[in-house]
Amino acid sequence: MALKIAIAGSGPAGLATALLLHRDGHRITVFERFDAPQPVGSGLMIQPTGLAVLQAMGLDAPVLAAGARIDRLFGQATPSERTVLDVRYAALGKDIHFGIGIHRAALFDILFRSVQATGISIATSHTVTGAPLLADGRRELVFASGARAGPFDLIVDTLGTASPLCPPLGGPLAYGALWASLDWPDDAGFNVTALEQRYVRASTMVGVLPVGLAPGSPKPKAAFFWSLRTDRLQAWREAGLDRWKEEVRSVWPATAPLLDQIVTPEQLTFARYTHRTLEGAAETSLIHLGDAWHATSPQLGQGANMALLDAFALAKSLRETDDLQHALERTVAVRRRHIRLYQGMSLLFTPVYQSDSTMLPWLRDRVVGPLARLWPATTILAAMVSGLIGRPLKPLGLAALAASEARRGGLMPGHEQPPQHGDRAVEQQADQRQDEDDAEQRVDL
Ligand SMILES: Cc1cc2nc3c(=O)[nH]c(=O)nc-3n(C[C@H](O)[C@H](O)[C@H](O)COP(=O)(O)OP(=O)(O)OC[C@H]3O[C@@H](n4cnc5c(N)ncnc54)[C@H](O)[C@@H]3O)c2cc1C
Repeated sequence: MALKIAIAGSGPAGLATALLLHRDGHRITVFERFDAPQPVGSGLMIQPTGLAVLQAMGLDAPVLAAGARIDRLFGQATPSERTVLDVRYAALGKDIHFGIGIHRAALFDILFRSVQATGISIATSHTVTGAPLLADGRRELVFASGARAGPFDLIVDTLGTASPLCPPLGGPLAYGALWASLDWPDDAGFNVTALEQRYVRASTMVGVLPVGLAPGSPKPKAAFFWSLRTDRLQAWREAGLDRWKEEVRSVWPATAPLLDQIVTPEQLTFARYTHRTLEGAAETSLIHLGDAWHATSPQLGQGANMALLDAFALAKSLRETDDLQHALERTVAVRRRHIRLYQGMSLLFTPVYQSDSTMLPWLRDRVVGPLARLWPATTILAAMVSGLIGRPLKPLGLAALAASEARRGGLMPGHEQPPQHGDRAVEQQADQRQDEDDAEQRVDL
């Protein structure tokens, strides 16, 4: 059954949904507020879950080519130099488990170009303000201009955390972060395959994530972030860059070559974080996906990956039944458990790294940090950051770690790749399905 579908929003959830549903023969129109669709922000991490969806869409190779392979998440308390976070993807089994640091613009570019190549209709400069409830559901979109579009068989709301199609829920978290996209400093000693962070209690956090290439830039990039309480943003602006740089350098001197690249405050974008989960994501002829359904702080690095899983779940459910409402409810049923688990874990972990608490970082540095480096915590944490707790891939029929030539690469572009050929590659391919089953069984908490 070919449906007439409106997709509101062109973030990862909207673009992935558009591609997957177009591929299944539905008639898609994407509505986006920007004049020219564009991503906001610096970098993000694609986890094995998101990579599995991208692979099913045939987009894993460009993502691997643009992004930077991440093997390890490493965090150290300052000034004690205690290691409080040390998660290695390889703890899940073979070394074919990894994340991808990617520039937001690169991910957007890959998805958006694919949408353009398919000829999917994209209506830009359309700011959605509502979808009125009519006798047969919410089938029309209303825009800020007063114009309307529809009726549609289905509206997919992927408008993000502040979607006007959702009831107002939750609120911003106390802490957000300043983000910048900078050139990768080759000689600064950062690990090119790690997300590295430094903390002072939980009130200060600075991080560096390799994100590979941004579109049009030949040099590899780093996403640099500095945690900041939302109500201190104005004070930060007033204090001036030099004072702030001094503070960052005192926490992590190696960041000096990154700080040297920041010459105006405009190079830093303040990201506010929200935590909220919408109950009843499926309505009559409308479904909320991605951040419109479930938003949280990026502490666990799952949001875009969850959005991709949501998109895949909807496409699969629509493929399996002609009953639209049943397909929407099935989408929610398939995703609900995983979403609840990760929303819960994010709520639990965020204050450990971003809060005014003194007790939580004390426990983190002296008790939880050391314990987390022992088995089985190493495996559980690797599964957690991979997005695999709750076995989200099984009901979607996705192979988490399918082999491909590109997948064995995935190092930061411009950096040397370890040779993995011949027997090693064949062995990896043969083991990959077993690995996924093993990993998912180990982490089925
Ligand atoms: C600083 C930061 C770091 C992050 N790091 C990670 C990470 O490492 N890993 C990870 O997986 N996730 C990360 N996330 C979360 C991730 O970015 C989101 O979960 C993901 O972008 C959600 O995708 P989405 O498509 O649902 O929403 P969005 O990406 O928010 O896209 C929404 C789209 O809708 C459009 N839109 C919004 N309102 C309207 C309107 N009224 N009318 C028309 N169009 C509208 C927007 O312009 C946008 O194009 C991070 C988030 C932030 C802020």
